[in-house]
Amino acid sequence: MNRATRTVIVKSTRLPRKVFSVFIELEGMYRNMVEQLAMYAVSSGITSFTRLKALKYRELRKQYPHLPSHYAYTACQDASTRAKSFLKLKKKGLTDREYPEIRNVTIWLDDHLWRINGLTSISIATHKGWVVVEFEPHKQYWRYINRGWRLASEAKIKLDRKEKRLIIYLVFKKEVEEYSPKGYLPVDINENSVALLVDGVAYLFETDVEKLVLGYYYRRRRIQEKYDKLYGVKSRTKRKALRKLKERNRKLDIKWKLANIVVRAAYEKHYTIVLEKLGKNPPGNMIKKFKDKQLRHRIYQASFKGIQKAIEEKARELGVPVFYVDPKYTSKLCPTHNAEITYNGSRIGKCSKGNELWHRDVVACWNLFFKALGGDGSIAPSPLGLLPVDGSPMPLGSTATHDPTVVKKPLWARWKSLDATNKNKSISTSI
Ligand SMILES: [Zn+2]
Repeated sequence: MNRATRTVIVKSTRLPRKVFSVFIELEGMYRNMVEQLAMYAVSSGITSFTRLKALKYRELRKQYPHLPSHYAYTACQDASTRAKSFLKLKKKGLTDREYPEIRNVTIWLDDHLWRINGLTSISIATHKGWVVVEFEPHKQYWRYINRGWRLASEAKIKLDRKEKRLIIYLVFKKEVEEYSPKGYLPVDINENSVALLVDGVAYLFETDVEKLVLGYYYRRRRIQEKYDKLYGVKSRTKRKALRKLKERNRKLDIKWKLANIVVRAAYEKHYTIVLEKLGKNPPGNMIKKFKDKQLRHRIYQASFKGIQKAIEEKARELGVPVFYVDPKYTSKLCPTHNAEITYNGSRIGKCSKGNELWHRDVVACWNLFFKALGGDGSIAPSPLGLLPVDGSPMPLGSTATHDPTVVKKPLWARWKSLDATNKNKSISTSI
């Protein structure tokens, strides 16, 4: 069994001024606690939730005796997470600050601090007692309720001051049964494409992540420069323009769509997804060309980690097993001859033994496949019985398998499954 979790965001109805001001006070106290704790955690190096709680609980209770005691717990959890990710950024040299900045506060609630009443309202424990808040359910919310997901005991709330509402983050959980895999579906993720190999046929999905991230980065910088000149560095109009850009950018977030296509393909065939075990740094020399450290970090996150994480989460949801293999040499060795492939700067390489041509991403997929078959790791399902009986599992000799089916983004962005490839004639099968 596998546990899948999903966060669903609902908005409360508009709250009366008096009620909303209770939450403003609550947020103020909570922010204070998190600020103190995060500073303490970073300066002392004590970032574990349990240690923070053990050291600071009494002090917090003394400071805010009217606040339900469990806020001291959740503030410790919140601060511990913030301190950890801050120290990580610091280590990577991605921040110049001494302490984490607590700009946005979301109040963490545990099972003592909130409960659901029926299906459209919750009660929240505050320094003024329990407050009932109605929320506006939407389609997505009902979908989780109706499909057997259960509400987890933790939730979060955020204040929308302009609208005098609460934004409520509900967490749903579900146990998903994992199947016993009948084969492997390797996935190779690159800066601008994702390749998969399904029953010997390679597909290359173009993602243009690099272009998207770069475009966003330059547009953001242009807005900043323009508004700084017009209204000064801290203007409200600038913040608004940047927020708008961010929202628009989120819509371009194509990773979920892609993850859905990949995981569904595996799910329908009862295959295990094979992914590269990602290290902490960008593989090879892929994105070294960007001097800007933050930009490099962002492209890396968006292309590798982002897509990989989306696939992992989707796989958990459907109970599709994921198997990780060591990425070493996956694109350098010819899958047929086990000899080196030379690329000369392009994505098409030549095998040094057989002289045949290979597309780099196809090579990577095949090698991931073989590594998984070889049980290059500890949790591999037994490869015996997965290979076709005639002993020649893949038609590597034919050129068709060397060329991936290239699928452009505008096309696959409209798909729900890989089946669409067969129905669509506008896909090029050569490179
Ligand atoms: Zn070869």
